[in-house]
Amino acid sequence: MLKSQYLQKVYASVSQRYKDQPEFMQAVEEFFDSMDSLVEKEPNIEKFAIMERIVEPERTIKFRVTWTDDSGKIQVNRAMRVQFNSAIGPYKGGIRFAPNVNESICKFLGFEQTFKNSLTGLPMGGAKGGADFDPNGKSDNEIMTFCQSFMSELYQHVGPNYDVPAGDFGVGAREIGYMFGFYKKIVNQWNGVFTSKGLASGGSLGRPEATGYGVCYFAQEMLKAYRNDGFKGKRIIISGAGKVGWMAASKATELGAKVIAMSDFSGVIHDENGIDLDLLLELSKTNTVVMDKYRNTHPEAIFNPDTKSIWNIKCDIAMPCATQNEIYLESAKALVENGCWMVVEGANMPTTLDATRYFIDHGILFAPGKASNAGGVAVSGLEMTQNAMHIGWTFAEVDAKLKEIMAGIFKKADDAAMKYTGTHNLVAGANIAGFLKVYQAMLEQGTL
Ligand code: GLU
Repeated sequence: MLKSQYLQKVYASVSQRYKDQPEFMQAVEEFFDSMDSLVEKEPNIEKFAIMERIVEPERTIKFRVTWTDDSGKIQVNRAMRVQFNSAIGPYKGGIRFAPNVNESICKFLGFEQTFKNSLTGLPMGGAKGGADFDPNGKSDNEIMTFCQSFMSELYQHVGPNYDVPAGDFGVGAREIGYMFGFYKKIVNQWNGVFTSKGLASGGSLGRPEATGYGVCYFAQEMLKAYRNDGFKGKRIIISGAGKVGWMAASKATELGAKVIAMSDFSGVIHDENGIDLDLLLELSKTNTVVMDKYRNTHPEAIFNPDTKSIWNIKCDIAMPCATQNEIYLESAKALVENGCWMVVEGANMPTTLDATRYFIDHGILFAPGKASNAGGVAVSGLEMTQNAMHIGWTFAEVDAKLKEIMAGIFKKADDAAMKYTGTHNLVAGANIAGFLKVYQAMLEQGTL
């Protein structure tokens, strides 16, 4: 229950207006919880209607994407770009292709992105977009045709100083390449309008690794600050075998941890000897799902087709890196019961609100995605800088900057948590620290 009457009033009207947008309202509820300790100390928030403004995207562009599949059949998808907040920089955030993409999901992602981008310290506003297009099972030609049709509409709403999209679920370097190529053809300019581009197209070294590595760098800061410890010997479980999960697994292993379980759409593989990442990599060259094939080489490992079963495995650290709302209260309870003492989110909002509250109430060290997975967009910011300067940094240079940015995010979030809540609650700290810069910029820019 919110203490502030102002927040109560704004929340009531937002939840009434967007009652059919559950993911967006979940993100708003968590954010408002964190604002409760701040609004009384900052009367300008109410005076200048900051909360009323910050929950509304500055602009939402919705459009139809018509394309022709390989059999010659005309297909229609729905797409959108939510340009949430540009107070501190051009709109910035990924594009998601997945059958469940809708306004609620794009809005929750764009809202979170606003604070995440602010936390990086780089000048990037918040946005997100996507289409209800399922890339699974599509040919390369179908993907290209879809991306070109998508860009034939979106090109007019993006630009290196306006809105800079990148990848997300279902959108990688291949899709970015097709979208960037089409944009370039239409506007006849080569510029940094997209990030997460392929290397030859102006992408940054270290961008594919950035989110997963950043998750581990953030976790390292937590381990150091709260336990005077490191990754060595820690038992880790990681959900999601996308780029984030893979890179987090490889960095955690490099830092001395033992990744004992991972999952993908086929199920969960549990290997007490530590997951054989080289084998997974080899398998992934010819398969889209790999966990169900792991036991052919490692019969001592356990396979469970129920993806949720990963949260029942005894571990020290859990890293949910798959998608939103993958840890429900029941799984949170199982994790705590089994001795897990740290949760570091690699995906966006993978933990439900009651599960998040449960972790915090039970003293679990908990890192919210908008802080711990900010490494991806941080290196996107570095890609924008390199493109604007027409230079390219080495992997080591990018990695060093990423480490520094992640350490800075941890410090900002932890300091804000201490200052405003007197605790190490990083959910509150990340929301407050991310918000303060956006709020300051909104005040400076007047009531627009
Ligand atoms: N989609 C990623 C995120 O959730 C990256 C966004 C970007 O690089 O713009 O932060």
